[in-house]
Amino acid sequence: MVPTPDLSPATLAVTAGRPPRDPGAPVNEPLSWTSTYVADGPVDYGRGGNPVWTAFEETLAALEGGGTARLMASGMAATSAALSLLPPVRDGLVPLVVAPRHAYSGTTALLDDLAAAGQVVVRRVDVADTAAVATAAQGAALVWLESPTNPMLEVCDIAACAAAAHEAGALVVVDSTFATPLGQRPLDLGADVVVHSVTKYLAGHSDVVLGAVVTRDDGLAERLTRHRLLRGAIPGPAEAWLALRGLRTLPLRVERASANAAELARRLDALDHPALERVRHPSLPRDPGHDLASRQMLGYGAIVAVDVAGGEEAAERFVAATRVWLHATSLGGVESTLERRRRHAAEVDTVPEGLVRLSVGVEDVDDLWEDLVEALDAALDEL
Ligand SMILES: *Cc1c(COP(=O)(O)O)cnc(C)c1O
Repeated sequence: MVPTPDLSPATLAVTAGRPPRDPGAPVNEPLSWTSTYVADGPVDYGRGGNPVWTAFEETLAALEGGGTARLMASGMAATSAALSLLPPVRDGLVPLVVAPRHAYSGTTALLDDLAAAGQVVVRRVDVADTAAVATAAQGAALVWLESPTNPMLEVCDIAACAAAAHEAGALVVVDSTFATPLGQRPLDLGADVVVHSVTKYLAGHSDVVLGAVVTRDDGLAERLTRHRLLRGAIPGPAEAWLALRGLRTLPLRVERASANAAELARRLDALDHPALERVRHPSLPRDPGHDLASRQMLGYGAIVAVDVAGGEEAAERFVAATRVWLHATSLGGVESTLERRRRHAAEVDTVPEGLVRLSVGVEDVDDLWEDLVEALDAALDEL
């Protein structure tokens, strides 16, 4: 069924990307285990397409407000595809990329590797500072934005930064993984390409690794599709099927997880606990990103960060002491997880040693709350 644009996201998540409503037809796109197709159809080979990819892509594009979505083998494959839009080094001129000083660590590492290979020059900025982004964008080929940022939850004015970047002639890519299409629509705000780690909220059950790009520019869509076809990092049909099943409940999961996150952030902020230095979540009126997020976003998202007093050791005691929250990396699943980000060598050193990122799930909020408070008490043990 082709979705009509007047439907709300909660409806589109359920109704888009379905087989035609013919008598006896399956309700869900069946899992297609095939590497090749009978000749003269729309797709001839499994590296070029799969009906389950198409069903997922139609649904995601509908949620982003229209455009072309392409499912990728991982969020990093989606990031690589977006970076393939950069011009090559020509006559010694190396393309300039403006990137957030705080971003997903894989994105930062990939840009560092490309810079070390002489393929890009990277200029890092605080993306919450629109004037700094506008200045840095002068001469840039691409401006990479992430909002809210991982793991500091800074909020970027996507419309203002995209306008400044376009004025400077740069392409604008937004990694919208934390917000999901239900939290913000970067293409409506002027971005050229949206990147998602489908691994996180879109699939939502911590059981697959996938990514996606979305654009409304047909020329860019063609290049992204060709990148996937020829670089060859493609999603498996079964992973795509699981992701599509997850996408059907995205509105329900995001609504519940975001409500839990805002409630936990509010309670933590009011707690006055000696092991707690700071709570970061754009729903909090005193958060630096609050006003902008209230205008730009359709929700505040379900990632919260807390700065544990006492740095690394206290934060490690905190994450080791929970029994409902799971100590694990990644985010966006139905289960609540938490992690001290600086335990990764790749995390930049402007992220506080004691910062713990909370990926709030869909469990009962009081169970999550009691567990957090007990773990904060445990963090104090050796202070
Ligand atoms: C996880 C993540 C990625 C990378 O996605 P993978 O699916 O792990 O490759 C990119 N950006 C953000 C914001 C992420 O959280």
